[in-house]
Amino acid sequence: MKPLKIFLPLLFAMIFGTSIPLQAQLFDSESDFTRQDTLRGSITPERAWWDVTYYHLSVKVDIADSAISGSNLIHYKVLEPHQKLQIDLQEPLEITKVIQGENDLTYTREGSAYFIELQDRQLSGEINELRVFYEGNPQVAVRPPWDGGFTWAHDGNGKPFVATSNQGIGASIWWPNKDHPYDEPDSMLISVNAPDTLMDVSNGRLLNVGEPGDGTKTWHWFVSNPINNYGVNINIGDYVHFGEEYEGEKGVLTLDYYVLRENEAKAREQFKQVKPMMDAFEYWFGPYPFYEDGYKLVEAPYLGMEHQSSVTYGNGYQNGYLGRDLSGSGWGLKFDFIIIHETGHEWFANNITYSDVADMWVHEGFTNYSENLYLDYHFGEQASSEYVRGIRAGIQNSSPLIGTYNVNNEGSGDMYNKGGNLLHTLRQVADNDSLWRETLRGLNQEFYHQTVSSKQVEEFISTKLGRDLEPFFDQYLRDIRIPILEYAFRDGRLMYRWGNTVQGFNIPVDVTINGDVHRLQPTTSMKNLQVESDGPFILTVDPDYYVASFNLLGK
Ligand SMILES: [Zn+2]
Repeated sequence: MKPLKIFLPLLFAMIFGTSIPLQAQLFDSESDFTRQDTLRGSITPERAWWDVTYYHLSVKVDIADSAISGSNLIHYKVLEPHQKLQIDLQEPLEITKVIQGENDLTYTREGSAYFIELQDRQLSGEINELRVFYEGNPQVAVRPPWDGGFTWAHDGNGKPFVATSNQGIGASIWWPNKDHPYDEPDSMLISVNAPDTLMDVSNGRLLNVGEPGDGTKTWHWFVSNPINNYGVNINIGDYVHFGEEYEGEKGVLTLDYYVLRENEAKAREQFKQVKPMMDAFEYWFGPYPFYEDGYKLVEAPYLGMEHQSSVTYGNGYQNGYLGRDLSGSGWGLKFDFIIIHETGHEWFANNITYSDVADMWVHEGFTNYSENLYLDYHFGEQASSEYVRGIRAGIQNSSPLIGTYNVNNEGSGDMYNKGGNLLHTLRQVADNDSLWRETLRGLNQEFYHQTVSSKQVEEFISTKLGRDLEPFFDQYLRDIRIPILEYAFRDGRLMYRWGNTVQGFNIPVDVTINGDVHRLQPTTSMKNLQVESDGPFILTVDPDYYVASFNLLGK
């Protein structure tokens, strides 16, 4: 059985021995990126010299005018002396003032990048602070959460329902910050002022609520752990709250739910999935990474997003992805896709965060795979296997999973389904589920609360599995070709090799030959194996491997 469709050109190349024109020409070269992409996506000299340690973001949300105003107090450690500092904020919002100590600072602007001239001498090792004031009408999200900004909506009772979402487009779409993923504050305070008939829910824990006496309230939410910029969020609505406690690996974890008044009954039913989900994820990935900040599910006026410790939810209180099974296997309807997927990101996205968005597969590939492991934990290996094979239908293989570095460029959308399949294939390669589980848990320990590169993750897995996986990762992350097990039976021998691969590709693969299972160790050179049979040979590759096979002599 062939686990996937082989592209015709691949078949052609295999048969006629030509090589496929590789992807290089097909994809954007760096020259297609703009100066703004570089300012946003690289660690510029004006970013490199300081390490953000704390943000206090304070925002007043004026719902009537779809406007915001506020400030961000930034604490940073000086790594090397420098007098110019870059802060990002996207139009039409504008920075109106920057102060450091007594000084009102001057700045120049280049698109979304503001270059602030510091007057006090910056000395290595010092922790300094500055406050950036800003205001305006933020961009409205066109297709949240993918095309982010503010969503100004209303609930079924006509009350305002407002939220931010900004992955990809960047947190600087609504607040001024160092808008690059490599640097996270160690903690953050988020203060949101809104009408007192509503409530704001942001990340972390609610410290206190201020009542200035003008018909508004200010909710102060404190995040005691490092947080990625894109995870910071505002949700304002007529929320009701309920909660429960989970006895997890690190003790008691608070689970808090904020949902629209009209949806409370549905939410109380649907969110029963949270505890069993925590069982599955803690088993495979280790303790939930933010016990101190708690776990929240917060209803939002869009599908959902992995906002750290305040996962947003808009899946309509139904199983599947808006009621659909993305795998076509039936298993996708056994769970609420948004609860499971977005919470999986607490481990892969919020705990382990890409240091460049080009490596976004580390977020989406592992989180896609978390859906599979959730099924594995509750419904068994067959369920997880059918699910992961089902989602292959969505893989395009038209560009690599890894994007272009330093220009804020994401790789192919295949990072989800192909990423999940890559990891499921690796589980077969490991052929040892306790070692595989140790590897997944080990990643979350080794890179606890850190920003990382794909290479670091790849090297960690190679070390854990005791195998050089460089060609494997190059094949699935940096190339678009699917390995083909090429084989032929001749004179009682099976000849076999990997074709359509990068140099050195050498993962083992399980095959069944006339009913007997064999673990082959193919390389890109032809090997052979003595086999015996009275009749014709039939070989099938274990469909859990995301590879193809081709009988060089047969049909
Ligand atoms: Zn995701």
